[in-house]
Amino acid sequence: MRPTILIVEDEPAIRELIAVNLKHAGYEVLCAADAAQADEQIRAELPELILLDWMLPGTSGLQLARKLRGDERTRLIPLIMLTAKGAEQDKVDGLEAGADDYVTKPFSPRELLARIQAVLRRRAPQHTRDAIEAADLHLDPNSRTITGHGQTLAMGPTEFRLLHFFMTHPERVFSRGQLLDQVWGDHVFVEERTVDVHIRRLRKALIPAGLDGYIHTVRGAGYRFSPTK
Ligand code: CA
Repeated sequence: MRPTILIVEDEPAIRELIAVNLKHAGYEVLCAADAAQADEQIRAELPELILLDWMLPGTSGLQLARKLRGDERTRLIPLIMLTAKGAEQDKVDGLEAGADDYVTKPFSPRELLARIQAVLRRRAPQHTRDAIEAADLHLDPNSRTITGHGQTLAMGPTEFRLLHFFMTHPERVFSRGQLLDQVWGDHVFVEERTVDVHIRRLRKALIPAGLDGYIHTVRGAGYRFSPTK
């Protein structure tokens, strides 16, 4: 699953420039010219990250940032503010409104991509291409390979994403609903028991390395990834 980034920017030339660069870097891109369009996009599909221009017609980027942070569904979306303003107070306002980072115009596409990577690494590492280790398990998103005790483990794309999410969020209990939102996407309508099916397949895929015990069922709550040697 390629991460989706929503660009909220009213200037078409800048929006297009960013969109082209993000697509080239392998992201899915959604665009909105104002807060109302952004709301509409977010209602249809929760993006993995939002680039939000400060100066928008109508509802400002800052107001939209506060709104997103105040809403349970959008509270955790990584948010980067774009602005022509360089004043210290504006930066403070943006960060206080819940932005994860702040990029001042004019910026180079390379700088923007680096900021996006850094924010995703911090806030949503399952959407980066960084290889990750957890005890005896190694996952590499670039080559799409998983090894356990040095042995290559075969699994389907959903099990791969599920394991990637677990490995980037160890020792935390996730409900089936949370796993659906995080791994399948919150715009996808599937039943919660689908999660159980894929957990079962994931455990089976880990058996050849003897690591199926890393996936714990937490009664009445959901599942936890606990890599213990
Ligand atoms: Ca603007």
